[in-house]
Formats: sequence, structure tokens, C-alpha cells
Amino acid sequence: MKIRTKLVSSFCACIIVMLAILGSIIYLTFEEGIYNDRQEIFSLKAANTAKAFNAAIEKEIDIFGQSHKEAFAGKSKPSLQSGFHRCEGANGIRLFSEVSVISPDGNIRTICSQLPDGKSTAIALQVAARNIAPNTPQFVMLPDGLYLLYPDSNDRSSALLIAAKIEKDELRKLLGSLNEVKDSLLVVSSGSQTFLNLATSKSSQDLVDIYPKEMQQQRIGRKKEQIKLPALIVCDNNVLGLKLTHVVSREFLLHDLVKLKNRIVSAIILIGWMSIWVVLIIAHRLSRPIIKLSKATNDIVTFGNDEKLDFIATGDEVGMLAQNFETMRLKILELIAKDPLTDTYNRRYLMHILEQETARALREHEALSCIMFDMDHFKAINDTYGHPAGDEVLAELGRRLKLHTRIYDTVARFGGEEFVVLSPGIGQDDARSIAERIRVSLENDPMEWQGLKIHNTISAGIASIDEAIVNSTEKLIVCADRALYMAKRSGRNQTVIYEADHDSPGDSA
Ligand code: GH3
Ligand code: MG
Ligand code: MG
Repeated sequence: MKIRTKLVSSFCACIIVMLAILGSIIYLTFEEGIYNDRQEIFSLKAANTAKAFNAAIEKEIDIFGQSHKEAFAGKSKPSLQSGFHRCEGANGIRLFSEVSVISPDGNIRTICSQLPDGKSTAIALQVAARNIAPNTPQFVMLPDGLYLLYPDSNDRSSALLIAAKIEKDELRKLLGSLNEVKDSLLVVSSGSQTFLNLATSKSSQDLVDIYPKEMQQQRIGRKKEQIKLPALIVCDNNVLGLKLTHVVSREFLLHDLVKLKNRIVSAIILIGWMSIWVVLIIAHRLSRPIIKLSKATNDIVTFGNDEKLDFIATGDEVGMLAQNFETMRLKILELIAKDPLTDTYNRRYLMHILEQETARALREHEALSCIMFDMDHFKAINDTYGHPAGDEVLAELGRRLKLHTRIYDTVARFGGEEFVVLSPGIGQDDARSIAERIRVSLENDPMEWQGLKIHNTISAGIASIDEAIVNSTEKLIVCADRALYMAKRSGRNQTVIYEADHDSPGDSA
């Protein structure tokens, strides 16, 4: 995959992950979080409100009912009257402004206050009462107000209907005193008629300002539309047939929006943090092979590392570059370190290795021997068989030198027909064995060129590192050369180990 494709796909993956995280947060917050929370909290609140509302009304009804039973026991108007009188102000709040008893024949007897307005109201109450279970209080909304009905018996033909008109201000006071109604807008309605629209806090009042009454009423009973509204939640509760509409304040929703904002901010921080890591990982993956390549380039120049370039086959442009570089590196190494004719190392590389090995041998007190070889009368071979034959002899000598030395030894062409074998960990005696092996190989096994056997010998001079005399690269080379000179002077085809008395100014191999 190309770098551009990698970057684009990583970027796309990041964007997708970010959108997925943001989407899930919004989904969780709105759908499972805010929506569920607010539904749960709201239904709890609405249920509590309904319970409190119910309890408050029922308390009145219980007193009213008891009084009623007590009053009717004697069937006497005065005792009935006194029973209802007792219910007035029983719990500190007088909900009912009028309490009337309506007989089946339509006669109305006012117990506490005035009669319901006109005969039509009384008939409407009687009609409503027919659908109510006995001893079950029921609210009825009539044009002139809200009534609480209480049929006193199963037998509708003989039952007295007790009707109590609810005082709006008293109900408002009662509901205002209920904790459950706080911070909300409570609408008490029946059918399309609204009896009471109660905002019990400033924030609820805000709601009234934001959503005009008509809008709120339109939405009553149409849950789907209401849920779409950002700051309006409505829940209906039937309390004794009366519809209680509960509107949660805008602050409540704002609180959830703050929660959403916090979640989004956290998500953005998380995504930002993840993005930094993604960028760092991509940058690392891209730069690592480039760093390796630049180090390898430096190694070529300094002969620092002869190992194969370790790169990951990434398949992108960097991978291709690394592959081409490895091919190039091997080619360059061959060009700058090897002698093409003999396939041995050249003098430049030899001097580099010699520096390293000498320093190490001196530092770690290890043996290091330098064997310098020189073909005997090589000029004669050139003269007799020609230069190509001489070249072939040199190439064959390179092969034999490598054949008779260890893998740790460095075989290098020092110049012309002179070669050097550098043997780490090898002392004078072992070095002599190596040199002799090569010398004998040439002596006993003549080289061949175009079917002709070319007899040839070789001389060798050996110098080994010691801390007293041969204690530097230069001295190692010079002393090996001195020993080679002694071998030549002593008749050639022999190996000589350097000794201090070999030194005589002006002599050289
Ligand atoms: P000695 O025994 O004293 O070493 O005698 P020699 O003839 O080997 O030494 P000398 O230094 O006189 O001659 C070296 C010859 O090696 C001279 C040169 O032509 C030849 N020579 C050097 N490099 C090459 C090469 O790459 N190919 C060929 N064919 N000959 C080479
Ligand atoms: Mg020579
Ligand atoms: Mg020679």
C-alpha cells in the first residue's frame, strides 16, 4: 500500500472512529441517557404529584364522607348541615366553596354555601353522577367551575348526590404547598377545558413564557410532538378522572444539556489524545525505515556495519527504497572494499579492519597476527605467459588464500602480487602454520592456465602484536614487511617470523 493511501485510510479510519464515538455519546446521552432519565424522573415526579394531589383531595372527601354518613344517619337536614359544616377548614385549607345535596327529584339543598348556579348545573351534575361508581369521588368540569361529585348509594333513583364546587384559589394554594409540584408547571384540565394552570416556580414561569398556553394545551395528550420540544415534557395522570399535566422545567433539560456538553468535551479530549497516538504511530512507522536507511548509508561510508539491512517489507515506497538500497549497498560495498580480480578485500578495507583489530587486540590483550605474502618472481610469469596468465595466477592465489584461512581472517590484496592475511586471536606459531599451508599448497599444487601448469612459489613474513615493539597498525605492517624481506633475502619460498634484529634501515621486501 502506498504511503498516500496509508495516510488517507488512517485519516478516514480516525474520522470514522471519531464520528462513531461522538454519535454513540449523542445517542447514549439523548436516547438512553437524557430521554430515559427524564422520562423516569418525570414519571416519578408526576406520580408523586398525582399522589399528593389525590391525598389532599381525598382527605377532604374522607372528612366530607364521614360527615355525610353521619349527617344522613338521622336523615335530618340540620344534622346533615352540621356534618358538612364540620368539614370546613378541617385540614386548614377549604377546597370546597359550595357543598350541595341534590335529591333524585332535582331538589337542591345547600349545605354550606350557595346553590350551584341554576337548575341546568344541577341536572348536568345528576347526569354525570349516573356514570360514577357509588362512594367514588369524581371530578366534573362544568362551565361555571370544577365540581367533586359523590353519589351516596348504588340505587341511583333514591340516591342523594353531594356536589362540592372546588375553590380555584384554595386548590392553587394546596398544590403550591406540595413539594412534588415544585419547579414545574402543573395544568389541571378535563377534556379541552383547563381549570388551573399553575406555575410554581420562576423557571416554570419561564416555560409559560416560552410556550404560550395555547401551545401547551394543544400538546396535551399528544406525547410524540411534545417529546420533540427541547424544554417541554408532559405527562398525563388521571386523578379521579381529572387530568394532571405536568411540565418539567427548562432548567432540568438544561442540566442534561450541560451533561451532554461535558460528555462531548470529554470525547473530544479522548479523541484528540487518540489522534495524537495515531499520528505518532504512523510517524514512527514511516520514519523508522528512513532512520535505518540513513544509518545504513553512514555505515557504508565508515565500513560500520557489514550486516544485511534489516527492514520490514512494508510494500510502500519506503519498502521499495529499502530494497533498492540493500542491492545498492551490497554493490557499493563490493566496489569500495573488494578487489575485483582476486575477490579479496582491497587495501583500503584492510587498513580499516587493521585499525580496529589492532586496537581491540591491544585493549583486550589478545593475539593478532599479520601474514604478508609476495609471489616469487612473479614478473617472470608475466613475461613468460603474458599478463592474462599473471591475472589468473593472482585470482587463483586469492581463492587459495581464502580456502586455507578461517572465516574470521581478513584476506586482502595489499598491492600488485602482495597479499595480507590478518588473523585475530592467532599467535606467531599458528600464523606460521597458516602461512606454511598456503606456501606448501602452491609449491605442491601448481596453478593451471589454459592447460599449462605454472609452477610458482610464495614467500611470507609474519608479525604479531605485542605490547613492547609491535604495538600499532603501522608497526604491524612494517614488521610483517621486514619479515617478508628476510624471507626473500634468505632464498624465497619460505616463511619468516619477524624478530627485532631483522631491522636494518633501507631494506624492504
Ligand atoms: P620478487 O620475487 O622479488 O618478488 O620478484 P617479483 O618479480 O615478484 O617482483 P617485482 O616487484 O619485480 O614484480 C612484480 C610484478 O607484478 C610486476 C608487475 O608487472 C606484476 N603485477 C603487479 N600487479 C599485476 C596485476 O594485476 N596483473 C599482472 N598480470 N601482473 C601484475
Ligand atoms: Mg612484490
Ligand atoms: Mg614478488
